[in-house]
Amino acid sequence: TVSIATLQDWIIRFGAAVAEKREWLTELDSAIGDADHGANMARGMSAVTEKLAASAPAAADDLLKTVGMTLVSSVGGASGPLYGTFFLRMGMTTGAVQDLDATGLAAALRAGLEGIVARGKPEAGDKTMFDAMSPAVDALDAAIAGGADLAEATQAAAVAAATGRDATLPLVARKGRASYLGERSAGHLDPGAASTTLLFETLAAAIA
Ligand code: ADP
Ligand code: MG
Ligand code: MG
Repeated sequence: TVSIATLQDWIIRFGAAVAEKREWLTELDSAIGDADHGANMARGMSAVTEKLAASAPAAADDLLKTVGMTLVSSVGGASGPLYGTFFLRMGMTTGAVQDLDATGLAAALRAGLEGIVARGKPEAGDKTMFDAMSPAVDALDAAIAGGADLAEATQAAAVAAATGRDATLPLVARKGRASYLGERSAGHLDPGAASTTLLFETLAAAIA
């Protein structure tokens, strides 16, 4: 199972990863957006990390809702409400538990993905974070259905996210700021798909 301490470790690791990759995320966003994705994610996750250090949530739903609300309130731009909704929906799905089993984690991540779909209306191939997250959540479900343990399943999800991120390279953006560029958005990775890959890589690292 995944304990609340492991979930918190995931969030802390994700914050450290976006801080470390801040310049890269900003570079990606400078090619097809407004060059703030690194700053947005680093600011939001640093606010989250401070909030968690000040008061450790007692249950999974508290933890995930705190992350979501802090991102919504500290990140302007598309990614704040999208990541915020992702974590809020996860928290609404877990309930006030101390541990999640594999199916509980998969259900929460699926609900988070559905929250992003409800909010941003991304479809496959629109060149957004959805293109990394949707294959990651599918890979997690498939691995669990095939009898993989949590470490193997989250590793499979991280690999699927990275593959989805890389597949955004040739795409023409159909959602968000990058869509204003039309055909000129092709030839660049989507910044949100890049940060979402960090989200799944740090989940796998926290659980390994
Ligand atoms: P902004 O575009 O407002 O400056 P960010 O740069 O922080 O916000 O985030 C941009 C990322 O948000 C994009 O790379 C993309 O992955 C994601 N995104 C933008 N619009 C949508 C949408 N409608 N649905 C899903 N993801 C989106
Ligand atoms: Mg931007
Ligand atoms: Mg912006």
